[in-house]
This record gives sequence, C-alpha cells and structure tokens, in this order.
Amino acid sequence: MTTRTPDWHNLAAAIRPDGRMLIGGVRSPSVAGETFDCISPIDGRILTPVARGQAADIDTAVASARKAFDDGRWAGKPPAVRKKILLRFAEKILAAREELALLETLDMGKPIQHSLGVDVQSAARTIAWYAEAVDKVYDEIAPTARTALALITREPMGVIGVVVPWNYPMLMAAWKLGPALAAGNSVVLKPSEKSPLTALRLADLALDAGLPEGVFNVVPGYGHEAGEALALHMDVDAIGFTGSTRVGRKMLEYAGRSNLKRVYNELGGKSAFIVFPDFGDLSRAATTVAASVFFNQGESCNAPSRVFVHASIADDFVRIVAGETPKYQPGDPLSGSAEMGAIVDDTQLRTVLGYIDAGRDEGAKLLAGGHRVRAETGGFFVEPTLFDRVSNRMKIAREEIFGPVLSVIRFRTEEEAIAMANDSSYGLQASVWSDNINRAHRVARALRAGTVHVNQYDEDDITVPFGGYKQSGNGRDKSLHAFDKYTELKTTWLRIDE
Ligand code: NAD
Repeated sequence: MTTRTPDWHNLAAAIRPDGRMLIGGVRSPSVAGETFDCISPIDGRILTPVARGQAADIDTAVASARKAFDDGRWAGKPPAVRKKILLRFAEKILAAREELALLETLDMGKPIQHSLGVDVQSAARTIAWYAEAVDKVYDEIAPTARTALALITREPMGVIGVVVPWNYPMLMAAWKLGPALAAGNSVVLKPSEKSPLTALRLADLALDAGLPEGVFNVVPGYGHEAGEALALHMDVDAIGFTGSTRVGRKMLEYAGRSNLKRVYNELGGKSAFIVFPDFGDLSRAATTVAASVFFNQGESCNAPSRVFVHASIADDFVRIVAGETPKYQPGDPLSGSAEMGAIVDDTQLRTVLGYIDAGRDEGAKLLAGGHRVRAETGGFFVEPTLFDRVSNRMKIAREEIFGPVLSVIRFRTEEEAIAMANDSSYGLQASVWSDNINRAHRVARALRAGTVHVNQYDEDDITVPFGGYKQSGNGRDKSLHAFDKYTELKTTWLRIDE
C-alpha cells in the first residue's frame, strides 16, 4: 500500500478558513462586527479576518453555555451517551486531520508533519481517552456509622471558561475540553488571537459529532477584551487557563474581583536538565536535549532550556549539542521535512532576538545560531541557538524565552546542581541523567517540579498528570486528576433508621 503525501502548498493556497465565532451551535460575526487579521508566520500573509469577540460576545456565549448546562441537554445525558458522542468527536478530528494540521501550521508556524503526527493525534487521543473514562469512574460511599449513609459524588461545575495559548493551540484546548465536557460541563473557549483557527474547527466537528448546541462555544478575540471579559464573568464557574505566568496572575485577580470562580493555571517554565558525569551515554543526553529544546521552535512550556552539566564533561557535551544544531535549522514548515518552523509572530521573534542579545551582553558564550533567518520569505524564523558558560543569575537563565535558545550552566557538585535547578520561580519539569540509581532517586526527589524525568525527556502520555510547582501553576491537566478541576465534590447524608 502506498501512502499519499498531500501537496501541502496546493492545499494551503486553496484553504479558506472560517473566522466567525461559534455560539449556540451557530457561526456568526461578533456583535460589533469587528474583526482582526489572522496572519501566517510562515510568510506574513493574511489567512482570514477573524471575529474580534468582546464583552458582548462573551455575554452571549456564556448565556448560551449556561442555558445548555441548566436544561441538562448534556449534563443530564447518561454517561454512556456522552461517551459515544465524544468518541465520535475524536473520530471526526482524525477524519479532518489534514485540514486541522494545515490550519495549525499556517496559523502558528510549526512543521506540518508535527501538526499532523503530534498535535492532531494527541488532541484526538485526549478527547477519546476522557470519553472512555466517563462510564468507568465511580463515586464513593464513606465508611460512616450504620445509622447514616454518606454519598460522595462528583458533579459537573457548570460553565467553564477556557483560555489557551498559541504554542499547541489544538492540544491545549483538548486538554481542557476532554475532562470538562466528559464531566458534563458547558464550555466557552477563548483561543489565542495568534492561533484561533483550529479551535473554531474543533467546535464545528463537535457539533457534527452530536454535541448539543451551546455546550461548546468558541469566541476568538484579544486577551484584554474577550479573555478578560470571560475571566471576569459572574456566570462562569471556573477558568481553565494555559499561558504565561503574567496573565495567570491576572486570572487570579479577575476571580477575586468577580465571583471567586475557580482558577486553574498552567503557566510557564524554565525546566532544568541535569547531566552527571556518571551517566554513560553522553551522546544520548546531548541529542535528547537538542531534540527537546528545539522542538516546536522552542515554544514549549516544558522546554529544557537550562542545562546543568558537570564541569568535567561539559566541553564534550556542548560539542555534541552544537553538532546537532544543523538538523534543526528552520525551513519551510509545509515541506514535510523541516524539523523547525516559524516563530509565531513578529513580536515573539523580537522577544527571542532580544533574549539572545541579553545573553551576549551578559557574557554568555554563543556557540551556535543567534540570528534571524529566511527573512526574505516574509516569515519569522530564528536559528537554533546555543549558549555556553551561562550563569544561573543571567536573564537568559531566569526568564522563559519561548524560543529555540539553550543555556548551558556548569556545576561541580550534586548539591550545587540541585540548588541551582531549584533556584527558579518556575517548577514545571526537570530531568536528571545518572547511572547511579541512588543519585537518580535522590536528585529526582529534591527537584521542585511537577514532572521529573530520569535518563530521558520524551516520555509523555495522557494517563499522567501535567502541571507545575511554584509559579508554573496549580492543578493538573491530563490523567484522571484533571476531573478534579471541572467537578464539584458533593456529600449527601441519608439517615437510615434501624
Ligand atoms: P499569554 O499568557 O500571553 O496568552 C495566553 C492566553 O491568554 C491567550 O489566549 C491570550 O489572548 C490570553 N490573554 C492575554 N492577556 C489576557 C488578559 N489580560 N486577560 C485574559 N486573557 C488574556 O501566553 P502565550 O504567549 O499565548 O503562551 C505562552 C505561554 O504559555 C508560555 O508562558 C508557556 O510556558 C505557557 N504554556 C504553559 C503550558 C502548561 O501546560 N504549563 C502549556 C503551553 C504553554
């Protein structure tokens, strides 16, 4: 059997994305009729005007979601029925895989084979996994005295506001939609203004799959308009947010200023990757860090952007990483062969270049990359960049860059490595490389991060929780733990007469 390879350039030339919002099962312009341009970072072209949702649109969407929740058209369905509809939704995502992958790549710049093989697949798997869980999770009966029965049940919360970033637009949405919808909630999703297209298509597909109107609404728009209005809304019960720590802080303020809605923040990171000299395969550690930090143009919250390497092996380590960088030179994201695509927009490009300048100015040694490339395409591309001789006090080691920039910091003792790794306001992920089982466990235990990898960085699965310590956020996406965010725990006491 031969596999057909789509002609992505032809498909890209032909695609006509629909930028209208989706509220109550209907595509429509915004109340004010305003739009913003959705620009492709690949070549700077305008893909489509997109409805610019504002407070009035959020009001309509929340009212629609509330009505759908209150009349039980979704929450009231038997779990097996919700499961069936959500499984169909996952199938529709897979059936539309080429269109969704193309929209994702055109919208935010990642290589098409990654959109197709990673983002679409993982989004579908996420929805299917939560669908499967719906009729397998049981509630509890407490071990109380015989004169009473205490039922501990989980109930859907109501209307969930979901606000997501642009780096994995579809997948971040799916991580919230899966558990929120499976639990019976209604959702109003505000995608990033930099990548709104796949979210809108997801909502079309959910409707096609039989999700009742009003259960899943999408209002595109700017953060300070639609995002703020959603997070301040008095009739939204919880916010599932993924984005920067700066905006996560605002989400907590909005909740405090409005109805104390639950706020679940999945925020930034500055993940540490620690390589000890007793790890035998230095090459595997070095190639893994390059693959992980340059994946998705470095625009990953869990990118291992601070690498702590023992001084005795650091020269060899950086030589191998530098030798890997040609593999990750940015190329045409639609080619199917480029391992790195475009940075999401001009603003982010300038942010990344600004950090590279800061690294140079503070005295770090630039070993590879450091420049904008492919500017003649009209797109926003940066070379994979490697800094050696970084100190943990430098700006490039303290702040999240969200671009393809790796900082190598040398250490001499285990204690020093742990102290520096933990000396960060973030605590999303970490990795320790050692063949000494005692050391591996000791260091993994000492690291203040939501996920710690040992001798690898790439394992990931929907079955495990994802989230951070410290200013990387609260609550967890993925796994059954995510249901905690979108359900209320109710105790019902029944008296039993002897
Ligand atoms: P961002 O915080 O700028 O924006 C995220 C979302 O919030 C967007 O939809 C945006 O429109 C909205 N927003 C912005 N200002 C707002 C406001 N005042 N009120 C309400 N909403 C507002 O983040 P970004 O640049 O889109 O994404 C990058 C960030 O996301 C990075 O910090 C990254 O680490 C983080 N991230 C975290 C995870 C995780 O799981 N922990 C996953 C992916 C990305």
